[in-house]
Amino acid sequence: MHRHLIDAPPLAMDADSIEAGRLDALDRFDVMDTPREEAFDRITRLIRNIFDLPIAIVSMIDGHRQWYKAYDGLGNREVARSETFCKYTMQELLPVVVPDARDDIRFARHPSVAGDPHFRFYAGVPLRTGDGHNIGTVCAIGYEPRQFSPRETAILCDLAQLAMDALELRQLAAVDSLTGVLSRRAFKEQGAHALALAQRHKHNLACIAFDLDHFKSINDRHGHAMGDKVLATVTQACREHLRGSDLFGRLGGEEFALLLPHTDRHSMIGVAEKLRQAVSHIVVSQGPSKVGVTASFGMAALDALTPEIDTLLANADAALYEAKAAGRNRCIAWRPANDAPKSPRRRVLKAGRIVFNNRMSSIDCTVRTLAEDAAGLDVTSAVGVPEIFNLAIRSDGFETRCRIISQTERHIEVEFC
Ligand code: GH3
Ligand code: MG
Ligand code: MG
Repeated sequence: MHRHLIDAPPLAMDADSIEAGRLDALDRFDVMDTPREEAFDRITRLIRNIFDLPIAIVSMIDGHRQWYKAYDGLGNREVARSETFCKYTMQELLPVVVPDARDDIRFARHPSVAGDPHFRFYAGVPLRTGDGHNIGTVCAIGYEPRQFSPRETAILCDLAQLAMDALELRQLAAVDSLTGVLSRRAFKEQGAHALALAQRHKHNLACIAFDLDHFKSINDRHGHAMGDKVLATVTQACREHLRGSDLFGRLGGEEFALLLPHTDRHSMIGVAEKLRQAVSHIVVSQGPSKVGVTASFGMAALDALTPEIDTLLANADAALYEAKAAGRNRCIAWRPANDAPKSPRRRVLKAGRIVFNNRMSSIDCTVRTLAEDAAGLDVTSAVGVPEIFNLAIRSDGFETRCRIISQTERHIEVEFC
């Protein structure tokens, strides 16, 4: 593995550590790529109605993109960070108001101002956390130039504060409102406790992670409401097979995890198989439509090499990836490679850069998982990324040569070489 420190002037290093702190703060809110929620949709509706403007957005900005938690008046849900208007707002403490984008040197040559759809007005306020990190923005955009009075600016700031309050409330919630299972945060907290107990008293603990198969196509074909109904039905069906002491959490959109105390490897495999069958028998109907669903399961049992809940989850997650790759609708148990301690994959949120073409070309990415010898990267588009490139994570002073081992439209898995 070739790693070397990147030479960067002290000022740039400062910017990098500010960015790393900002991304850590964003990660704590655990909001990227989550479904729409009424609390945020209400804010964009209010912005459009109060200011009589066509476009309103509540957005988060990670390493490579601006992603919309709520949006009204736009088709896409994300845009490359380098192309956003909000990148200016992100650097500010105060609102950014642009009465006419054609008269503003930062905006005038932007393709959406100079060409279709000819944006002219922009007002944005940073979403600032209590500890001073800008993690996103609340903004309003119009097709006509207009003034924005101090009173209007103050209202937009209040709406941004409401969005921040909603993010904080969301983070505190212990129970997921759609399915009634534990939120990710509560699952991890209670899971850490269960793991410590199992280690202290030397009893078994099993972890099962599962992810619904091709769930996106259920939403696409039958609508989001049907998708929600499927999620609620699946969790209800799983609950019927669990004990009171088991922990059940929703880790992401259609990803769930279970921790089963006093459960050995053999019983763990039995439980996962029972759950898999229960899910595969579900039929959800809504009006004339009926839909079935399957899920892929990964399992990992607690062993002496598992120091913490994140490692146990990462092992179950790795087995889940295998179950997906092997054709879905199946259960796979994690096994350590040759029983040797394997460097675990950590979930992270870091700004990265894909560098290639003799350093002449680079593409921003967000590093989502990281191990000693591998990483998972989110990109706006994987098109044009060569098979071998250098991955740089400036905040860590890290650069290494990588080879792509798998890719989808917006995600690349690499191993270091
Ligand atoms: P795979 O078999 O590889 O897991 O494919 P997939 O389609 O399930 O996976 P992908 O991650 O591409 O899509 C997950 C989809 O789940 C995308 C997102 O819109 C949807 N989703 C996430 N949370 C919710 C939710 O709360 N409600 C609904 N209806 N959809 C959700
Ligand atoms: Mg899925
Ligand atoms: Mg998923």
